[in-house]
Amino acid sequence: MKTELFVLVAALVCTASKPLSKAAQRNKLLLVSFDGFRWDYDQDVETPHMDQLLQDGVKAKYMTPPMLTMTSPSHFTTITGRWVEDHEVVHNMMFNAKTNQKVPHKQTLTRSEWWDNGVQPLWITAQNQGLKTASFYYPGGGANYSGKAVNRVIVEESGHPDDNETEWRENIDKVMSWFSEEDFHLVTLYYGEPDNVGHAKGPDHPDRKTIVRQIDRTIGYLREAIGHHRLNDSLNVIITSDQGMTTVKKRPQVDEIVLNKYLNLLKLASFEILDYGGFGILTPRPGKEQEVFDALSNVPNLTVYKKDELPESFRLAKSERLPPIVVVADLGFNLNSRFIVYVNKGDHGYHSGEMDMKTIFRAFGPDFRRNFLSEPFDSIHVYPLMCKVLQIKPAPHNGSLSVTEEMLLLHGGGSQRSQLSVALLLSMMLFMFTEL
Ligand SMILES: [Zn+2]
Repeated sequence: MKTELFVLVAALVCTASKPLSKAAQRNKLLLVSFDGFRWDYDQDVETPHMDQLLQDGVKAKYMTPPMLTMTSPSHFTTITGRWVEDHEVVHNMMFNAKTNQKVPHKQTLTRSEWWDNGVQPLWITAQNQGLKTASFYYPGGGANYSGKAVNRVIVEESGHPDDNETEWRENIDKVMSWFSEEDFHLVTLYYGEPDNVGHAKGPDHPDRKTIVRQIDRTIGYLREAIGHHRLNDSLNVIITSDQGMTTVKKRPQVDEIVLNKYLNLLKLASFEILDYGGFGILTPRPGKEQEVFDALSNVPNLTVYKKDELPESFRLAKSERLPPIVVVADLGFNLNSRFIVYVNKGDHGYHSGEMDMKTIFRAFGPDFRRNFLSEPFDSIHVYPLMCKVLQIKPAPHNGSLSVTEEMLLLHGGGSQRSQLSVALLLSMMLFMFTEL
């Protein structure tokens, strides 16, 4: 009887200690971003591979991006764990309010003066702790940080086609060989869809469903490739995005916003970025601050903020780069300055609390739980999760591991519990030995 009990207890000890021994192994991490993937894009299209991800890993009901809901600011929040007011990538358009210089997103990708504002992204933090990292098209990956470059960088060029499925697969093949043949620890991989289709055709267009099916096939291809490269036991994957997408409201359904009807922009503002979706910024000419604010306050379907009165939840007010006036349009309205020249049928940049701005989060791999549906969370908390998976010490950040760590098999409480149960079983065995 005692021998049987001993075998049982020994088996239990082995089972309990198995994940603990795994903790010593440093697994790799692939972060994939599909730009503009709204949280519910998989709910009206067959997405067998994404559905399988929930069974084999973790799905968040949705994820909330930072204010402001644009590609560069949001991606940089994910890779730094910092709010926009701290990392200072405050628009998709690089700008200098004094010189009126404006540089569009794709031309900013290698311009360190836009990205390197004293905050350290994950690639550099990991490299400083001995890991090998790479960025494939990921926003911010092409810049230098305090003079340091990411170990391997491929930057997406202006005009690069975003929807070529063959190239998508080739990019996965390259990344897999970096992990399996060159021992990279962290790779960030970016795709420009479904954002482009969402802008051009609108989120409700059948072409958006077509591109989501293509993304789903790509996820299936990724999973096969992980198997071929024998990375199933060592590679964790996070699939996420930067923001959602909403249908742009146009005439005749709505009265579109044309700001010059309410204030003479040329006379009253020395700098502006308008005509760029639902988020606008302005610098009033000296002495004209209140006049600009009052005039914008009269415009329907938008909210105007003085920078120093921005709600704290926006996490934008501390930014030095941000101009003194911020304008946020109601969902679906665009901020036109003088004329309506805007052709997009879908857009983002709206308040991150709007459901249409919410995005996806999926994760799978050796360190993630299976069949785990997470409550929604803010994207700021992905950074400490990635540091935990890579077993590195995070740089200062605004996220909280406690929000995301329950997705992990060995999350804090769980691993303490396993340690406790091992200790308990060991003392039981000791007691039995003395009895024997
Ligand atoms: Zn976009």
